[in-house]
Amino acid sequence: AQVSTKPHVALFASPGIGHLIPVLQLGERFVSRHNFVVTVFVVVTDAATAESQLKQQSSYKNLLNVVLLPPVDLTSLTNKPLAILSQLVLIVRQSLPDLRSAIASMKSRPTALIVDLFGTEAFAIADEFHMLKYEFFTTNAWFLALTLYAPHVDREHEDDHILRHMPLHIPGCASILYEDTVDVYTDRNDKLLHDDYVRIGRRLAEADGILINTWESLEPKTLQALRDPKAFGRFSQVRILPIGPLVSGFQSFGSSQPKDDILQWLDDQPTESVLYVSFGSGGTLSADQLTELAWGLEQSQHRFIWVVRPPQENSACGAYFEQAKRADGTPEYLPDGFVTRTQKLGLVVPMWAPQREILAHPSIGGFLSHCGWNSTLESLINGVPLIAWPLYAEQTMNATMLTDQLGIAARSRELMPNGVLGRHEIEKMVRTVMNKEDAKGETIRARSQDLKRTALLAVAEGGSSYAALSQFYDYGY
Ligand code: UDP
Repeated sequence: AQVSTKPHVALFASPGIGHLIPVLQLGERFVSRHNFVVTVFVVVTDAATAESQLKQQSSYKNLLNVVLLPPVDLTSLTNKPLAILSQLVLIVRQSLPDLRSAIASMKSRPTALIVDLFGTEAFAIADEFHMLKYEFFTTNAWFLALTLYAPHVDREHEDDHILRHMPLHIPGCASILYEDTVDVYTDRNDKLLHDDYVRIGRRLAEADGILINTWESLEPKTLQALRDPKAFGRFSQVRILPIGPLVSGFQSFGSSQPKDDILQWLDDQPTESVLYVSFGSGGTLSADQLTELAWGLEQSQHRFIWVVRPPQENSACGAYFEQAKRADGTPEYLPDGFVTRTQKLGLVVPMWAPQREILAHPSIGGFLSHCGWNSTLESLINGVPLIAWPLYAEQTMNATMLTDQLGIAARSRELMPNGVLGRHEIEKMVRTVMNKEDAKGETIRARSQDLKRTALLAVAEGGSSYAALSQFYDYGY
C-alpha cells in the first residue's frame, strides 16, 4: 500500500460547541490550504448532543477524520459547583486515557498534537509518543499574554490588583483595568480556579509553539512583547504563530428556525439595516436584563435579529431548557406583545441561529455581541461594527480591546443600581452603531472596514497569517 507522505496532525478539542468550532476551522485550514491529513479528537460530555451538532455540520466530513472520545460525566467527578474553567480541566483530564489509547492504536501516527486552552495536560501524551506539542490558542494575544504571565504575578502585585483595584500590568502589553479583569482575579476565594489557570500558564510555556487566532497587524505590540526576552523571559523562545482570523468555509451549525427563513427575511431588508443580537453558544441574561434589552431594541426603531434564550438569574452562561410562548409567539420571558409590536422590524430566533451566514449577509449593519472571540472574528471579517456586551470568561478583555484599542465597538458601562444595563443606554448604543448620521458611529464603521481589509490580507496567500501556518509546516516538522 502507498504510504501517505502528507503531514498528519492530531487536534484535541475540549467539550462545548464554542470550543469545537475553532478547532474544526483550524483542521479545515490545514487540509484545504496546506494539504495536511487531520484527525480531530473531541472530548464530549453528551454523545447524542455532540453527534447531532456534528451531523448538522456535514461539510467537514470529507476533510477531517473526527473521533468522538467516550463521553465524560462531570457529575460523577465532583459534586461541588466549579468555575467553568475548572469543570473543563476536570472533564478533559478524565478523557486523557482515552486519547492515549486512541493515539497508541493509530497505524499512521500524527507527528504533532495540537491542544486547546483546556487540553495542555495532554502534552505528556505527546511526549510519550514523541510528537510535537502545540497549543492552539483560540482567542487573542492579549489574553495569551495574561495567561502566560499568570504564574509570575507575585502576591503583592496580585493584592494591588484584587484588593486595591489597580490595573494589572503585563510586561510589554496594555495593562488590564480591574473592571475588565478575568474571574480568576475577581473571585479570589476560588483557589482551584486560580491553580488551574496558573498551571495552564506554566504548561503553555512548555509548548513547541502556539498557534493563535489573531494576526500580526491586529495586535503588533502584544505579539512583539511575547517574543521579547526582556518582557517574557524564557518563554519568548516558544514559537508564536498568529494564523488568524480563521474564517470557515463550513456552514454554521444548525438552527432552531429554518436557515432559509432567516436569510430570506434578511434578503428583504435594506443594506446594512439590521442589528444581529446574540450572546454566543451559552450566554444568558437575567430576566430584568432581558426586559431592558427588549425595550431598548424596540425603542431604537432599528431592525434586528435577536437570538433569545430564557433568563438565568445566577449564571451568565446558563443551560438550555424548553420555553413557553404567548399567543403571538412572544416567549414568556419577553415583554407582553413584543413580537407583535416589532413584527415589521425584527425577527426573534429562539436559542440558536446560523450566525456565520447571518453576519456575512449584506443587510447586517451591526452586531450586539458578548464578544466571544469567534463571534468577534466573524463580525470583523465582514466589517460589521459591534456593540460590546461582555458576560464572562475573557469577554470583558475582548470588549475593552474592541472598544478602547481597536475602536470598532460601542459599549456602555452605565449600569442601573440593580446592575442592569437600562433601555435608554441600549437604545443609545444601537443608534450609534446603526444610524448612518451618527458621527461616533461613522468612525466605528470606518475602522471596522479597515480591520476587515487587514484581516483578509493576513490570511491571503503571501499574508502574515498564511506565512505563519506555512512556518508551522516548514520548521515544526
Ligand atoms: N453560534 C451560532 N449561532 C448562535 C450562537 C453561536 O452559530 O446562535 C456560533 C458562532 O457563530 C460562533 C460560536 O457559536 O462561531 C460561539 O463562539 P464564541 O467564541 O463567540 O463564544 P462562546 O460560545 O465560546 O462564548
